[in-house]
Amino acid sequence: MFYDDAEKWSRQEIEKAQVQRLRRTLARAAGSRFYGDLFRAKAIDPDTIHTLDDVRRIPFTTKADLRAAYPDGLLAMPVKDMVRMHVSSGTTGAPTVIYHTKNDLSWWASLMARCMYMVGIRPTDVFQNMSGYGLFTGGLGIHYGAERLGCLTIPAGAGNSMRQIKLITDFHVTAVHIIPSYAMHLANVVREMGMDPKDLPIRFALVGAEPYTEESRRRLEALYDMKVYNSYGLSEMNGPGVAFECPEQHGMHLWEDAYIAEIVDPETGDPVPDGELGELVMTTLGREGMPIIRYRTRDLTRFLPGPCPCGRVHRRIDRIAGRCDDMIIIKGVNIYPMQVEAILMAMPEVGQNYLIELDRVGDMDQIKVKVELKDEYFVEDMRALTALQKRITARLRDEILVTPKVELVEAKSLPRAEGKAKRVVDNRGAMS
Ligand code: AMP
Ligand code: ZN
Repeated sequence: MFYDDAEKWSRQEIEKAQVQRLRRTLARAAGSRFYGDLFRAKAIDPDTIHTLDDVRRIPFTTKADLRAAYPDGLLAMPVKDMVRMHVSSGTTGAPTVIYHTKNDLSWWASLMARCMYMVGIRPTDVFQNMSGYGLFTGGLGIHYGAERLGCLTIPAGAGNSMRQIKLITDFHVTAVHIIPSYAMHLANVVREMGMDPKDLPIRFALVGAEPYTEESRRRLEALYDMKVYNSYGLSEMNGPGVAFECPEQHGMHLWEDAYIAEIVDPETGDPVPDGELGELVMTTLGREGMPIIRYRTRDLTRFLPGPCPCGRVHRRIDRIAGRCDDMIIIKGVNIYPMQVEAILMAMPEVGQNYLIELDRVGDMDQIKVKVELKDEYFVEDMRALTALQKRITARLRDEILVTPKVELVEAKSLPRAEGKAKRVVDNRGAMS
């Protein structure tokens, strides 16, 4: 049932290893330009860190710090010892580069293999990775995990849906990695090819890389008749393999032998009480080439209290509610795209895609939600469509507390990104 020893550690074992590994990490980090300067400036002596709470004496590391240190200011070992680099998919500003040594990659692959084994994937499974390869960590990161586990691993990459489907059927693929927005789209293509997604041999899907709701998970599970497990990670912390759902499908175990996780108030940086929503902050414990300490992920989540019935002690984080920087403020109300998605994906008439558009009309901000309908509901009966539009508007208003303009559109008519979905288009700046 367990892939490795650390997976079944007790709280004491986890904490003991965390302190030891934190001290080793700080000693290594002190050798990098960035942390060397920081420790000197703040008079931090890594030798005086003795407990997990002591980690809070070290300042946060932000995305801006990583950018300022571009490309190699955080390297704790010479570049010649590095064997791979990845780049985070951030859409604005300079990219952030993460380097890995051979040991780093090996550690990462075993964390990823642990995640896959936990949900029941075995060497006898055939695994297809449908996310982009290249600089994005969802490609090689998942790939090496699947190989480490011993699965026949098909590096299908992103896009080319017909070929994806052919590979799945020809090689009897039983486990996949797929981004949620693409999984929704692929189901439509399977249908267009005259098949039912349920007839595909897939039993397990690792789904992550972008936020999605519980409603979307249920929809995908029903569409394909498969189990969907939430997979969370970010390039700065390796990529996938950071936190992963167990068979209980209730929160993601964050691997505490490899990371220290804190959840803080994004405004003040103070820890929030257990169970409350805040920003996830993470420290690498296993990385030698480029350790990162107290990284502000911008991702909002909470620790789920209480033990997990699966027996693993590694703490669980809740599904990511969004990013601090995803929040839409309209008419003074804070809205997260996932609130909109939760309402839409619970309605049977709604298809697989939607888009939120923000506009300024005169002095007023306006939120428009474009909603794809399933083919069978996209009918010519105006009365039925108007009634549906009103129903969607009312449900959204109840959730987000402002009244959106709802536009019903045909299936597959909204733009779809090749990688992570873009859920919000903000035209307000452009118009003023
Ligand atoms: P990147 O480093 O470019 O791979 O992007 C990492 C970011 O993707 C994270 O910080 C999250 O915002 C997002 N992300 C990854 N996995 C998930 C997930 N399972 N649920 C929600 N957001 C995710
Ligand atoms: Zn569990």
